Amino acid sequence: MDVKQAADIIKNGGIVAFPTETVYGLGANALDREAVKKVFRAKGRPTDNPLIVHVASSQMLLNVVRSIPPQARGLIKRFWPGPLTIIFPASDEIPIETTGGLSTVAVRMPDNITALALITEAGVPIAAPSANKSGRPSPTSVEHVKEDFPDIPILSGKHSRHGMESTVIALDGKPRILRQGAISLKQLREVIPNITIAEQNPERPESPGMKYRHYAPDRPLILFSPEQLEHMKLYVKGKDVIILCKDRYAKEFTGQVIKLGSTDKEMAKSLYKALRTKREGEELVVLGTEKKGHGRTIMDRLERAATKSY
Ligand code: AMP
Ligand code: MG
Repeated sequence: MDVKQAADIIKNGGIVAFPTETVYGLGANALDREAVKKVFRAKGRPTDNPLIVHVASSQMLLNVVRSIPPQARGLIKRFWPGPLTIIFPASDEIPIETTGGLSTVAVRMPDNITALALITEAGVPIAAPSANKSGRPSPTSVEHVKEDFPDIPILSGKHSRHGMESTVIALDGKPRILRQGAISLKQLREVIPNITIAEQNPERPESPGMKYRHYAPDRPLILFSPEQLEHMKLYVKGKDVIILCKDRYAKEFTGQVIKLGSTDKEMAKSLYKALRTKREGEELVVLGTEKKGHGRTIMDRLERAATKSY
């Protein structure tokens, strides 16, 4: 399928999967409530979990928001196009289906040529969550999208460069990170020195999606922190499991090992693919990483995916 065909689907109220630099998205016209409902239905996504609206120009941004907080300008200049989602007061153009009933809307401009071409060709902002069934690991390739949605049209493009979702921030009141993601706290602090990671009330988080289980593989996932390496070696001994760890730890284990790269960036990029492994094994046992820089986002995802953490 080419960009024009995919754009026609969007214009006609349909849904289509498309690549972004974070993960593959499942897109619909953000201004068309019936189209947006199709995305929720296909994913099995709770209707109170709002979608991110993807734009390709500042004109499109102005159409979907009521106002732009002053601090947003510096962030947009530095990080757009890119994996930073900003919460704005929503304009009347945006139906409540897209915002999950909130008066705010989450917006970002993706840094992917195919995604930008699709949005531009469709001529409308595209609401898109990750193109996976609700609760499953996000897709970083066309194959992953097909696993979850064999019948949905896919506009293919490059594999996801970041492999992690965008960072979601709010700027009303104290600037805060609602969901950690591909842009790290450190990077954000270079523009907004006092930004912090929001305290989340697990029952009523500011970012509604954070209360749902996420990123879960098809079998139990047991997570060990890096300090628990020795404990993990004992745990996996003689068990029929698949071990996921950074390259340098692979030699510590016998049995099936999936290597996740040598840096946190590489680990972020390879993690979701590894969580979707088809290899035989009763559990996935993962050696995590230090909670700093991109490691924070990785550990956030792993803790949400884990059946048990040590
Ligand atoms: P996903 O599209 O699955 O990567 O998830 C989008 C994330 O953005 C979820 O955690 C949502 O809860 C969050 N989000 C989207 N819109 C808003 C909003 N208006 N206010 C707060 N969080 C939002
Ligand atoms: Mg998702």
